[in-house]
Amino acid sequence: MSWLENIRPKIRALVARDIPENLWVKCPACGQMIFHRELDANLKVCPHCGHHMRIAVRERLASMFDDGVFQEIEPPKAIIDPLKFRDRKRYTERLRDAQSASGARQTGGDAAIVSHGTMGRINVVIVALDFSFMGGSMGIAVGEAFVAAARLAVLQQAPLIAVPASGGARMQEGILSLMQMPRTIIAVQDVREANLPFISLMTDPTTGGVSASFAMLGDIAIAEPGANIGFAGKRVIEDTIREKLPEGFQSAEYLHEHGMVDMVVPRQDMRKTLIRTLRHLLRPNPPANVVPLKLGKKKALKVDATADGNRSEIKSEGATRDTNGAAAATRKTATMAKSDQASDDAKKD
Ligand SMILES: [Zn+2]
Repeated sequence: MSWLENIRPKIRALVARDIPENLWVKCPACGQMIFHRELDANLKVCPHCGHHMRIAVRERLASMFDDGVFQEIEPPKAIIDPLKFRDRKRYTERLRDAQSASGARQTGGDAAIVSHGTMGRINVVIVALDFSFMGGSMGIAVGEAFVAAARLAVLQQAPLIAVPASGGARMQEGILSLMQMPRTIIAVQDVREANLPFISLMTDPTTGGVSASFAMLGDIAIAEPGANIGFAGKRVIEDTIREKLPEGFQSAEYLHEHGMVDMVVPRQDMRKTLIRTLRHLLRPNPPANVVPLKLGKKKALKVDATADGNRSEIKSEGATRDTNGAAAATRKTATMAKSDQASDDAKKD
């Protein structure tokens, strides 16, 4: 054996350790190579063209909650494989594979993750669908999880945010998966009746039975740029109506132009947009701050006169403390303006 053969495996081991294969990711939209750390730091958005790639469900949740901290609740137990469905593979086998891949084998988890925590110090419940789990399809387990999320939101008096990423109903559960559509709609109604906001954050893709149920019911409908949102696929519709559909049909931007979506928000701005929206929804009438007015010479004199007038009126009518206070405040402003005037005069001298 020559010395070269002896060292070759060692060199290979060295090279393999230094350059893992997945260091660079190619953007499917612009074709640029992106360093994986840069892509992670940019929340899986291409820094060159802004293309939004799919992001893992827990990574997304971490990007939304304060300090990336959230609690997941254990998924409610659901009936497994009620139809004893089998295509090329048993449904139970497919489920087991998906659970192993998502690390939910022990908990018996499914495509929906129910989490709670704070966003901008506001308690929120987020139910997010995992597209990598059988296409984020909605079966009994996802329906159960959504109902559990709605109940948790009502219990905590917290807003509910849904993050659909789904191909639609889970065909292996037949009509039972379709029944999850009315169930989730009723769950949204329960949140609404408790006077709590329900926000839908549509990600790529939001289609089929999910778009036809809770996903489109948000008090505020937000979508990610370029997300595919619709019920049936473009080709199916074109074949049915025998017409060519417009460019960009079913994209988030197209839906925004046509009033089906309120906002299209880039992923990097999502957290702060959600916090701002929640603050608006939770405090519709914030108390106004009293700002002292900076008045000119003539105006100041006028205000002084009316303030005196007000005072006499208030005294004669015996008005409440509040209006007295208001009058006092006006007087104070007037005096401030007067002193301003005095100092102005002093400067002139
Ligand atoms: Zn790109």
